Amino acid sequence: MRVYSHTACTFHDPGPGHAERPLRLVAVTEALRENFPGLDWQEAPRASRGQLLRVHDDALLALVLDTAVDGPMALDPDTVLAPGSAEAALRAAGAGIAAVDAVMHGEVRRAFCAVRPPRHHATSVVAMGFCLFNNIAVAAAHACDKHGLSRVAVVDFDVHHGNGTQAIFDTDPRVMYLSSHQMPLYPDTGYANERGVGNIVNAPLPPACGSDGFRRAWREQLLPALDSFRPQMLFISAGFDGHKRDPLAQLELETDDYAWITRELVAVANRHGNGRVVSMLEGGYDLSALRECSVAHVGALSEGPTAP
Ligand SMILES: [Zn+2]
Repeated sequence: MRVYSHTACTFHDPGPGHAERPLRLVAVTEALRENFPGLDWQEAPRASRGQLLRVHDDALLALVLDTAVDGPMALDPDTVLAPGSAEAALRAAGAGIAAVDAVMHGEVRRAFCAVRPPRHHATSVVAMGFCLFNNIAVAAAHACDKHGLSRVAVVDFDVHHGNGTQAIFDTDPRVMYLSSHQMPLYPDTGYANERGVGNIVNAPLPPACGSDGFRRAWREQLLPALDSFRPQMLFISAGFDGHKRDPLAQLELETDDYAWITRELVAVANRHGNGRVVSMLEGGYDLSALRECSVAHVGALSEGPTAP
């Protein structure tokens, strides 16, 4: 089981009191090293501008990569550009690219990207909701454009709706986007009637729905839709902020729910995509819950044969 990460991803520091803090990544990498001594750790390379331009426009690249910043600079009330942000964003996006190449070249079956800043709110033109580049979208576009896949799925169990990912792909039938998320909650998108070109499946969940509501939505709605799409490769926006101890949301999920959904997703990938899964860290803002959930997720990803 391979993990891509880079110390530069801790250099993006949005400042004191911000939930999306460098210690999140430290917690995840420490927990994974303690629990899985056999993981194959690889340094994330930088994404190229050409790879980012598949889903973002020039102006956003220039803003994130070329702005001279000597201290935290607010792009909106949630999203900050700081001196280490450009390098962190390039490594976070590059992790997904490298993971796709490794999986498609048959080096590994599944890979997890332990990177930040997170990504699923960033649209093609706007960095928002703690996110600079939409790295899961950059990775999925790479799988389609570079490796010629025509059916890839981005599955998003972060407690927030991935408005950026949905907006990037909602007219691209090569990519199915499926999300469970709390509603009402930031960013106030992800209604069930948002269907794209038939490639978007949203399952909004009420606050306090707990494990039963979460698993029912996946079992009855999202997993059947995913299964019938027969994805050649599966991407996971792995956010753990639906956990009951998370301070930003109220979905009240248990740690074991993340092991459960991961196993279900791996089973779909095994049926249709030679087991190909690339998972990328999204949210999760209680450090102890983040540690537990990362271990549950990577543990489930590591079950069964992880080499092709
Ligand atoms: Zn989130």
